Amino acid sequence: MEALPTGTVWFVGAGPGDPELITVKGRLLIERAGAILFAGSLVNEAITRWAPPGCVVADSKDMALPEMTAWLVAQARQHAVVVRLQTGDPALYGSLIELVQPLDAAGVPVQVVPGVSSAMASAAAAVESFTLPEVTQSVIFTRVEGRTPMPPGEDLAALAAHRTTLCVFLSITLLHKVEAGLRAAGWAEDAPLVVVHKASWPGEERIVRGTLATIKQRCREAGIVSQAMVIASPTLGARHWPELIKSKLYDPSFTHRFRKASA
Ligand code: SAH
Repeated sequence: MEALPTGTVWFVGAGPGDPELITVKGRLLIERAGAILFAGSLVNEAITRWAPPGCVVADSKDMALPEMTAWLVAQARQHAVVVRLQTGDPALYGSLIELVQPLDAAGVPVQVVPGVSSAMASAAAAVESFTLPEVTQSVIFTRVEGRTPMPPGEDLAALAAHRTTLCVFLSITLLHKVEAGLRAAGWAEDAPLVVVHKASWPGEERIVRGTLATIKQRCREAGIVSQAMVIASPTLGARHWPELIKSKLYDPSFTHRFRKASA
C-alpha cells in the first residue's frame, strides 16, 4: 500500500500577545493553514483571524496531550499545512517535545518557527536592557518550583548567586519563593525588580516596579495574579542612571571589523 500523504505540523511561536508580534513566516503559515490548534488561554485569539475560510480552528485549552496529538495527526492526514500556535517562543516552557515525539512516531513531519518570547516583550515594555557592559552580560530564564520540580542545582538561590539578569516565568503566584531565593543569594532589600503583566497585549499590559522588599505588596495592590514576567536584574532602571559604562562597540577608540578607531 502507498504511504498516506501527510502534511507538516508547524509549531509556530505566536509571540507574547500583540498579534503584530508574530513573525512574518508565522503569519504566512496561518494564512495557508488547513487546520490550527491554539491554546486559547494563552494565545491571543486575534491571531486566528488570519486563517483562511474553511480552516479548521480548535482551542486546545480543554484537551489533554493525547487528544492534542491525535487531533494534529488526523489533521495532517487531510491538510498540507497544520499549525500549532504556541505562546511566545515554542522552546520555552511549552510542551513542544511531548507533542513532537508522538508526531515523529506517526511519521508526521514537524517544523518549528520561533517567536518573540514574553521575556523579550517584557524588557521592551519596560524599556530595560537585560545586559549592560560591566554590569551583567548574562541572562537566566528560569522559574521557581511549583508543581513542576526544579532539577538539582537550579533553585533560585543558586542561580541568583551569579548576579545576572533573571527572567522568572510561571512564578507570579509564588513571589514569596522568588524573594526567598534572592535573599538567600544575598541580594539587597533595595535591589530593583520589575513585573510585567500581559506584556504587549493591547490595552492590557501593566508594569509594576518595586524592590525585593516591596514587589510582592505592589503586585498585590495592582491585583496581578497571572500571566506575568518577574525580572530581577542589576540593570533595571539604567535608563535613569547618570553614569553609564558605554558599550565598547560604539566607543570611538575601539576598532572592530566594521570600523577603525578614530583616536
Ligand atoms: N513560551 C512562552 C512561555 C510560556 S510559559 C514564552 O516564550 O513567553 C507561561 C509563562 O510565560 C507565564 O506564566 C508568564 O510568566 C510568561 N508570559 C507569557 N506571556 C506573557 C506576557 N504577555 N507577559 C508577561 N509574561 C508572560
